[in-house]
Amino acid sequence: MDCIFCQIVSGKIPSDIIYQDEEVIAFRDIKPQAPVHLIIIPRRHVPSLAHLSEADSALVGRMVEVANQLAKGEGLSQNGYRLAINCGEEGGQLVPHLHLHLLGGRRLSDTLG
Ligand code: AMP
Ligand code: ZN
Repeated sequence: MDCIFCQIVSGKIPSDIIYQDEEVIAFRDIKPQAPVHLIIIPRRHVPSLAHLSEADSALVGRMVEVANQLAKGEGLSQNGYRLAINCGEEGGQLVPHLHLHLLGGRRLSDTLG
């Protein structure tokens, strides 16, 4: 599998991992778009939001819970932050492994696209 995020999960390529458990891994984005820019992914290769089924609801909930905990740890709870998931080509998804962006540390754009 040549998925870059699967290679981060397996440790084949290095990354700045800041959290991991049985289901989820989080690491710093290599090209941060804000002072805090973290990526939260499932260990399992899920290509995109469009590939989730009802059985994955707990997994997505876990990703959001981890993101909220990391936001707290990064000191973002007070001033706020943004969680974003791009899906597919027109949604701006470049890496085809489901991921949640956690952005914060500055006033973010008022527009979403
Ligand atoms: P998206 O456009 O939603 O698919 O976002 C992919 C994100 O992954 C971008 O913000 C990239 O900067 C980030 N990214 C790509 N490769 C790596 C990597 N090796 N380590 C950390 N972040 C990465
Ligand atoms: Zn993958």
